[in-house]
Amino acid sequence: MSDPLTQTPPSPATEKPYRHETVDLGEDLSGKRHTLDILKFGDPGARPKAYLQTALHADELPGMLIMRNLIERLSEMAEHGEITGEVVLVPTANPIGLSQLVGQYMQGRVEEGTHKNFNRAFPNLAEMVEEKIAGRLGDDPAENIDLIRAEMRKALDKEQSTTAFEKMQHTLISNACDADIALDLHADNHAILYLYANKRSWPEAKDLAAEIDARAVLLSGYSGDGSFDEACGGPWLLLSEKFPDVPIPQACLSSTLELRSNNDVSGAYARRDSEALLRFLQRRGCLKGDPGAMPRLLGDAIPIENMHRLTASIEGVVDYKLKPGDTVRKGDLIAEIIPAMGTPEEITSPLDGLIIALHDQTWAWPDKMIGKLVGSA
Ligand SMILES: [Zn+2]
Repeated sequence: MSDPLTQTPPSPATEKPYRHETVDLGEDLSGKRHTLDILKFGDPGARPKAYLQTALHADELPGMLIMRNLIERLSEMAEHGEITGEVVLVPTANPIGLSQLVGQYMQGRVEEGTHKNFNRAFPNLAEMVEEKIAGRLGDDPAENIDLIRAEMRKALDKEQSTTAFEKMQHTLISNACDADIALDLHADNHAILYLYANKRSWPEAKDLAAEIDARAVLLSGYSGDGSFDEACGGPWLLLSEKFPDVPIPQACLSSTLELRSNNDVSGAYARRDSEALLRFLQRRGCLKGDPGAMPRLLGDAIPIENMHRLTASIEGVVDYKLKPGDTVRKGDLIAEIIPAMGTPEEITSPLDGLIIALHDQTWAWPDKMIGKLVGSA
């Protein structure tokens, strides 16, 4: 029996280097209960604020490994006092989608029962605040940003969610609406790394695209689809157009990052991508440290209208002749759609460009999108 006086005192409870919030989403349509984890590094309210989430389309998985790395690396940095802004991570943004198991597959893109896409119909925050800010905006861009963000938060606080899906979307946008940087990590079917950004964020967002080594950057205005990244960055574009006589900067750099495909999930890619994101956050002043020289951007930024979807017009098996990342000339054969009987359909390139994605299920039917190209006709 040891002398109680010589025993090692119990170590104090280990304090996490981040604030961990768990939000109860309630029950989904099938009665399963869900919670959402949100990790916040840095002092509350510190700027710049970066918000990163992954797996909003729950079946798009590369971002999950990146998040694990980011949690580990940011925890180390927090312990060394190297977080200068605030970094908010949502490591699995869509627990509802993750729980939708059919056969041996998880179906995380749309809600079971309603078929609603989890990454659509986020609220239009510009519409929600425009009456509140009219007549209150001035010549100081920073004051305008503060006013708009405060009204966005107030407007969202008043919203009532009735379903788990609504509460999930509301929680995500409420945590991101006042961010300086909002990144939504996705993956395409079979694809190279590319990203979407608001046209008003370009060329400012070049550092993000260059660090992550995006092979294409698709720039868009406000489509009205209400994707998460549009809901974060779009209001600043809309409000600047609504109130052209006052300075309203593009206060949120928002982007959907298509991190290749589920066939490219690996620890090596995750390490590479998470380090790239950390260097980007260093360059933006969220983190201490020297990111080094900015790499050269190899991809092009092009309007989203210059993305062309390849579609089939008959039913059949798809025999791809080329792969994502291949460059094409107008008229090049990209795929054949081979029916059970009869004449195959040749899918040729309508332009000189780059194949950014192909569908990974090699079965086509009329109007099925079998791939995406960027380039000019
Ligand atoms: Zn997605």
